[in-house]
Amino acid sequence: MRTIGLLGGMSWESSALYYRLLNEAVRDRLGGFHSARCILLSVDFAGVQRLQAAGEWAAAGELLAADARALQDAGADLVLLCTNTMHTVADAVTGAIDVPFLHIGDTTAEAITAAGLTRVGLLGTGYTMAQPFLVDRLAAAGLEVLVPEQPDRDLVHRVIYDELVLGVVREESRRTYQEVVGRLVARGAQGVVLGCTEIELLIGPDDVPVPTFPTTALHAAAAVRAALGEGPRCPPPLASSGRDPAAGRSSTSAAPPTIDR
Ligand code: GLU
Repeated sequence: MRTIGLLGGMSWESSALYYRLLNEAVRDRLGGFHSARCILLSVDFAGVQRLQAAGEWAAAGELLAADARALQDAGADLVLLCTNTMHTVADAVTGAIDVPFLHIGDTTAEAITAAGLTRVGLLGTGYTMAQPFLVDRLAAAGLEVLVPEQPDRDLVHRVIYDELVLGVVREESRRTYQEVVGRLVARGAQGVVLGCTEIELLIGPDDVPVPTFPTTALHAAAAVRAALGEGPRCPPPLASSGRDPAAGRSSTSAAPPTIDR
């Protein structure tokens, strides 16, 4: 089993979900006492949030690049950035590491395509809904992405930062999200991307009339497939390292085309 590197803490509420999902998936897959081999580097979210609010994305990128490198140096064979929003600096992160990086947009796009959908709504932070990094990633996979109108974006963003990242889950906010999704569906959305890693703590498939694409669950599932050497996201066998690929990391892995380096 390869070692999964989680760059998390953005927020720790969703990193806890990642950790649970990874371990459950490995247990379900391998049985017995098996659990995920992983390393979590959890940042102090206050510093990241301050840089977001100040628009200092380059500085945030430098911070996360150094942390991604630390994960690699600690033994991670692949790296996940456990937040949609900070994928805005994915290039800085991938530039700092040699091991595969599983982009949350790719794991999401694969699930949407596998479900046979072509037009989806996107819920996320104001940054994710306004910036191109996720929308373009999904569009590059042939998907049409509808983002909420500005007043709805403000509502969705406020619930994330005032409630979900602080561990607050309110019924009233669930209803608000249902209404926002309803408006996206009325505009033609066939499904909805829960494009913030905390949103699946608030709403699930039973809350809305169209399929949901929970980015945390999809990202975690892809990581487990890669770690266990299954599926298209499996990094190729580690050659000439002198180590058993099933036992741990090597510095000689090469990535398949679907994984950002
Ligand atoms: N976890 C969130 C996301 O997926 C928001 C927190 C952050 O700003 O990173 O976008």
